[in-house]
Amino acid sequence: MPEIRKDPVTGNCVIIATERSKRPHDFTRPYELKRSENCVFCYGNEDKTPPEVLAWRPQGGESNSPGWTVRAFPNKFPAVTPDGDPVPFEAGISQVMAAVGAHEVVVDSPDHFGSLGRVSDEQAEQVLLALAERYKTLSQDSRVKYIQVFKNSGATAGASLEHTHWQIITVPVMPAAFLAEFAGAKQHQELNGTCIYCKIAADEIAGMERIVEITDEFVVCSPYASRFPFELWILPRKHEADFGCLNKSDLKSLGCLVRRTVRRLERAFNYPPYNLVVHTGPPEKGFDIFHWHIEILPRLSITAGFEWGTGIFINPTSPEMAAVTLREIDPDVRQDES
Ligand SMILES: [Zn+2]
Ligand SMILES: [Zn+2]
Ligand SMILES: [Zn+2]
Repeated sequence: MPEIRKDPVTGNCVIIATERSKRPHDFTRPYELKRSENCVFCYGNEDKTPPEVLAWRPQGGESNSPGWTVRAFPNKFPAVTPDGDPVPFEAGISQVMAAVGAHEVVVDSPDHFGSLGRVSDEQAEQVLLALAERYKTLSQDSRVKYIQVFKNSGATAGASLEHTHWQIITVPVMPAAFLAEFAGAKQHQELNGTCIYCKIAADEIAGMERIVEITDEFVVCSPYASRFPFELWILPRKHEADFGCLNKSDLKSLGCLVRRTVRRLERAFNYPPYNLVVHTGPPEKGFDIFHWHIEILPRLSITAGFEWGTGIFINPTSPEMAAVTLREIDPDVRQDES
């Protein structure tokens, strides 16, 4: 029987429509073959992007030249502008503020035909170290209220370039999505004196029903009120509000875990489109009760009228089934079956 589940943090409802239960083969789709001509993220085209703000070059070499393993630069078509002052909103219907912020691209592999799930573990570590370094640098800007680190993979997930990459956008306002999660965490803290995300992580480990993988530092699970089929969360087991607080060793193990988790999806669904978002506390103080985490949202189903109208997502795959399916996949197989 279909059931309505409530997200324990935000209170948002989802319908788990078990009647329509879907397994990986119901989502199969043709793999879009990649073409590499004139790709601005490939070696040799460094002059086609704005000058880099970070690059790892293990063999050394000039800035804005090939030889990098990870490379970050401002987005050529930014959603926000680096200059100006975000004067706060005033009263009225038409409130406006300058969209001041940074919009950066972080290319996580020089391989045009590569994918995050297939990079080496060392490469995956370097990617997280690079993201964290840009995060820390961008958080120094006092105009920044929130930093969104995210990855769109596949055209239907919004990636305009197929070469694997991440993006970081800073904004001078607190996003509603963060405020909703923070309000839920705060309410739980006030009522129970504990962090709701710490509790979710502990409960999932105790129950094991929705667990995909557990490491010393993190839990990967399909959340109880999953909005999307095969939605996954990566929760740190240690309470920390801000993604920027991670030390080098945590970042390295997170890099490997993100790679393995993405690889499970790649193998289950033949490189599905997905969005990966880092939910973190903001740079400013006073949000210590928040608990940063990563959400991976495979785009296997369509967000349609009912979802837009109500905010209630219909998910045809129970998270319990999603977890069983994904934990059986070996994430260390990098070769594709032909
Ligand atoms: Zn490329
Ligand atoms: Zn916590
Ligand atoms: Zn979240």
